Amino acid sequence: MKQAFFAVLLSASLFVPCAAAAAPMRVLLLDGESAGAFHNWRLTTPVLKADLEETGLFEVTVLTAPPSDGDFSSFKPDFSLYQVVVSNYDAPSWPESLRLQFERYIVNGGGLVVVHAADNAFPGWPAYNEMIGIGGWRNRNEQAGPLWYFKDGKLVSDPAPGPAGSHGARLPFQVATREPEHPIMKGLPPAWMHATDELYATLRGPGKNMMVLATAHSDPQNKGTGRDEPILMVLHYGSGRIFHTTMGHDVAALSCVGFITTFQRGTEWAATGKVTQKVPAGFPTANTVSYRVDIAGMDPAFRKGVLTTAMPPDSNAPTVPPAPAPK
Ligand code: ZN
Repeated sequence: MKQAFFAVLLSASLFVPCAAAAAPMRVLLLDGESAGAFHNWRLTTPVLKADLEETGLFEVTVLTAPPSDGDFSSFKPDFSLYQVVVSNYDAPSWPESLRLQFERYIVNGGGLVVVHAADNAFPGWPAYNEMIGIGGWRNRNEQAGPLWYFKDGKLVSDPAPGPAGSHGARLPFQVATREPEHPIMKGLPPAWMHATDELYATLRGPGKNMMVLATAHSDPQNKGTGRDEPILMVLHYGSGRIFHTTMGHDVAALSCVGFITTFQRGTEWAATGKVTQKVPAGFPTANTVSYRVDIAGMDPAFRKGVLTTAMPPDSNAPTVPPAPAPK
């Protein structure tokens, strides 16, 4: 009996690694609506989850909020269980108790990753607008803060009046690194092509504690501003770290190796303040787009040679009314 006991102990010990692998970072991936029909979050959330989980660094829990006209009385997520919240969520407002709970989480050191239209959310929530730095649409104007863009190689703010948020047709565009020493950007080329996506421009906000990691030139030939617009940002709010990417309109955009890499690294940085991930082979170059067929294929329409860029007009669509302007 004693022998058997030792045999069990021995065999068990064979499977224990010398140094226990670090526990995966816990990620809360928030969705539930995104600008009415303009963003198919039911398709993009599984892509974002797969991007994170393939690194082996993250354990992702998806949290779907009720529609904004729905019942929030039983929606009480415990943010403190997670090291980082990834927002694939654009809603007009939240109940005050939920807002305060989220603010506390970030102030106390929680991480936040803002993907694409998540920077359209919550125009009337000052703390959220400080967390994201800049945002657009949902009737934001100069009262939301100045425009922010790069001029002569430097980040400037511009108090000119006008609406916030614009983009041209979805095309590939070149992303320029502005902070090559930041852990998220370290080892990335100075310029690389992003796959077909919306290039957000004329974003406004307080821009406090904000560092712009990368910009892209907004082409006047494609309804652009002629300016170098912020594309990737990091911010601090209290003890919390925020990574904000304006890329990621649809699965096609999310399949870009540049998007995936910066999203994986940005999420790790928001969770821990460090980046341990290497730049993958096949990262896009200054003139060449690089995308993942396995990720692009998560849009079922991809195999038919078309792309899904909005929610289908059926019962699967959210119950909220469409937003006033395309995002
Ligand atoms: Zn979009």
